Amino acid sequence: MRVLLINPKFPVSYWGMQHALKFDGTRAVFPPLGLLTVSSLLPDYCESRLIDCEVEELKDRDIDNADLVFVTGMLVQKKAVHEVVNRCKARGKTVVVGGPYVSTSMQDVPKADHIFVGEAETTLPQFFEDLMQGCPKRFYKAEKRPELTTLPLPHFRLAKLSRYSTMSIQFSRGCPFDCEFCDIIEIYGRVPRTKTTTQVLAELDGLFSLGWRGSIFFVDDNFIGNKKTLRTLLPAIVKWQKNHEHPFVFFTQASLNLADDESLLEQMREAGFNTVFLGIETPAEESLVETQKLQNTRRNLLDSVRIIQSHGMEVMAGFIVGFDSDRPDIFQRQIEFIRQSAIPRAMVGVLTALPDTKLWRRLDREGRLLGEGSGSNNEGLAGLNFVPKMDPHTLIGGHKSILRTIYAPREYYERALESLKRTPLGSDHSGYKGLALVKGVAALARVIFYLGVLDAERLEFWRFMKRVVLEHHRHFAQGVKFAAMGYHFRTMRFSK
Ligand code: SF4
Repeated sequence: MRVLLINPKFPVSYWGMQHALKFDGTRAVFPPLGLLTVSSLLPDYCESRLIDCEVEELKDRDIDNADLVFVTGMLVQKKAVHEVVNRCKARGKTVVVGGPYVSTSMQDVPKADHIFVGEAETTLPQFFEDLMQGCPKRFYKAEKRPELTTLPLPHFRLAKLSRYSTMSIQFSRGCPFDCEFCDIIEIYGRVPRTKTTTQVLAELDGLFSLGWRGSIFFVDDNFIGNKKTLRTLLPAIVKWQKNHEHPFVFFTQASLNLADDESLLEQMREAGFNTVFLGIETPAEESLVETQKLQNTRRNLLDSVRIIQSHGMEVMAGFIVGFDSDRPDIFQRQIEFIRQSAIPRAMVGVLTALPDTKLWRRLDREGRLLGEGSGSNNEGLAGLNFVPKMDPHTLIGGHKSILRTIYAPREYYERALESLKRTPLGSDHSGYKGLALVKGVAALARVIFYLGVLDAERLEFWRFMKRVVLEHHRHFAQGVKFAAMGYHFRTMRFSK
């Protein structure tokens, strides 16, 4: 049976880095790991193929050649999911949809034949059994969360590796915390489940043998959700990296309490982690309490960021405005915080009530929901999917003022320089080998041509690069990468 796995296109987003990809000649940041995992779970009689619309075009003949089509997507891909499903249906195909969007969404369910709600590991075998017997159901809802210890190696070979700037692997699912706006804990639960060390090393081996070198993203929503298991994994990765001459640098997401664990930070650094994304959300304690992000309260957030940076990891972070407790000064407070924390890549969004979250349920009870929205929190007034306490125009205007300020070239480059200063390079695995967006001389030439010659902000670029060379020459590659990414954020800021 020929199975076609389709990842529909994403809209331009902060994570997507679309404006920066032209510098390193890739077409997307990450491959769709969910589909690579689904492929590994298919029965032996299936032969799978991946079309990732982020890096290639979906052609009619791709659809016509398939016996069964699987489509995945997040809420932000909603429109594209519907388009792909309708297109495949129009060509007479049986279409299966799964992934985060259909797992939590309650409106506009795609017109697919079969819909998987929740993690598909336990329901896929039943589906194929039903299919063979000619009685497949429309909905397959996972009643329990699967153990990850039995998962096979994702089919990385299906992805056209050279079209991505980073590879993805997963160690854990779930997070022990309880943030009100978070859909992760609804989908994956609050008891983190992990793969074994053997599985993770096998995945590294798999990517290594396919020729991948460079950046790998641990997609875990909270990499330190299960610290006990992590403490056995990290030394094994340190050893693996040494035995393979440090081919990879890692990047992940973690909760801010990572700053409290010196030994874990040291292990991560030794393993080759050079970037971590934190959900900081807001410097306003009352808003953190409101959203039940209690792990970020009763601490000096700036100190916590600095501790992580001092262990050789660039800190990226997410920030949110629009909490009920936010006061009119929140926009300036966010700007000040981002400035002082030296977080170059700050993702600031307006609060969104994702379907089936605690926030969604509360706002529903309070009669303040306006619909599911698009899942993007950067669409201005049109993107607001609830009635905020603050005047909506003030909220959206304030959000825009943050973006305008923090991604103004000089402001951004100052943060980038401070971040380089605070983030010491590790051993030989976090230097030039750590390039994700800037691979080699050709990429550097493109950055110089676009940002140093064509771009209207070229003077700021040269001022920044001069300081990188004079003050942080060992971080030269990271400096060029910052310049490329800053261009993406700046372009996004003005395209809204
Ligand atoms: S720490 Fe992150 S993943 Fe965990 S509940 Fe909060 S927002 Fe969700």
